[in-house]
Amino acid sequence: MKWERHGASIYKTARWKAIRQQAKRRDGFACVKCGSSQRLQVDHIKPLRSNPELAFDINNTQTLCGTCHSKKTRVECGHPELSPERQQWREFMRLSPPSTLSE
Ligand SMILES: [Zn+2]
Repeated sequence: MKWERHGASIYKTARWKAIRQQAKRRDGFACVKCGSSQRLQVDHIKPLRSNPELAFDINNTQTLCGTCHSKKTRVECGHPELSPERQQWREFMRLSPPSTLSE
């Protein structure tokens, strides 16, 4: 996984930190896929692996929440997505306050 190490060096630069802030502000500090504002991350639309020259291109960035980002990364790495049923169950478990389980 050579490209990951290459990508990681980009994420430490002041330049990337500035782009990341700009991208979040542009997207209104919300995930562009689901609108969540939890665990926001700025993702490269075209992966750095194939488009390293777009690393600092604001037009190649999108704001994603942790859930959507890990989902995208999983697909890019060739792992199948969770089945819709499992995904729904996860969402359900995440959204339900624990107190409802004791009733
Ligand atoms: Zn999301």
